Parts: sequence; C-alpha cells; structure tokens
Amino acid sequence: MQNFWQKNNLLKLENDTFIIDMMYATPENITCHPIYMEVGFGAKAYLHADAVAKLEKVAHILKNIRLKLRIRDAYRPPVAHNRILEVLPVKGLFASKAENSLHCYGTALDCCLADEHGNNLLFPTEIDAYEKKYAEQIASGKTDDFYLHFAKAASDFYALGYEEAIKNRSLLRQIMFDAGFEGIKSEWWHFQLPQSKELYSLIEWTNQ
Ligand SMILES: [Zn+2]
Repeated sequence: MQNFWQKNNLLKLENDTFIIDMMYATPENITCHPIYMEVGFGAKAYLHADAVAKLEKVAHILKNIRLKLRIRDAYRPPVAHNRILEVLPVKGLFASKAENSLHCYGTALDCCLADEHGNNLLFPTEIDAYEKKYAEQIASGKTDDFYLHFAKAASDFYALGYEEAIKNRSLLRQIMFDAGFEGIKSEWWHFQLPQSKELYSLIEWTNQ
C-alpha cells in the first residue's frame, strides 16, 4: 500500500548541499511555538517531486560555486498552517487559510544561501522577516517597528548599505529562476513552482 508521501508525490529533501532547518519545528519563529512538533508532524522537509527535480538542478549549480541552500520551510501540513493562525491571530502575516498557502500544496519553499561551512550569507533580513524579537510587539498590536523592518522582505528592496545583502539575494534568485522556480514580490526567500494553483492541489497530511 502506498504511504502518505508516495500517494501525494512528495519526496524528502536530501542532498549534502541542503541544510534542513525547519523554522516551524522549533520555537524560534514569530509564533514562539514549535508548531510542527505540536501538530505531530516533526522536522520533516518534503516537497512535490516536480520541485525536488528543480532543486536537484539548484544543488548542482551550488556545488560548483561551493555554496549550500538552507531550507527553512517546505511542505506545510494544513493542520500546521491552521495552528499558526490559531496562536498568532494577526491579519496579514500569514495566508488567511491553508488553501492560499502554496506551502500546503508542497510546491513552495523558503530558503537562503550559506557558505560551505553552513554560515548564512548576508541577506536583507532573516528568513522569514517575521523574527521572534517582534513577536511581543505584534501580539500587542504595536506593529510600526515590524512593518518598517518588513519592507526589507520585498524582493526589490534596495537601500544604501545593503549592497552585499542585495548581491546575495540576486544570486539566490538567479539560481532558483534558472532551475525553474518563480519568486514572489513580497518575500525574497520564498520560491514556488509556476502555476501551482492550476497544476497541484492542497495536501492534507495524515499521520500514517
Ligand atoms: Zn514561503
């Protein structure tokens, strides 16, 4: 019998060029909760086979320039997305329902570049820009500082003093685009398969 992963064409992200560092598997994220642990999913990194095929190309390119890809989110079970919305009921931070997040389709990932020792290259923000230090402010409704910071998440953000971060962002985007992913304007670290909504479906996770 096919298991959940086979049935949904999801493959584990395994390559010595990838650093698997799922941010919602630990409390080190804006929700302050280890969401993936709370729902019983664990620190698993899976994506649709079509995305994994493109990531193999990314790994090949990175190997030649001696860099690694730090992956901070991949397939997100809808139950985990709902748990995020439950513990952080602030509009506008996350997709308002699982159907609107391509992570729940297994076709999106959040990532950045690291050197061969695993140290992140400089980028305009951490991944995501929803850094834990803003958690308290956001929860109390004081969002001015956060939104000032969040401007740096835009994939076309530019400001003096950020030259190196922007050069690294361009390199990451070029590599991901060359491999066949598309980006989004609001988050420099997010990449997805083109036409995800048309070609793929939401994947409900079942623990089997
Ligand atoms: Zn994302």
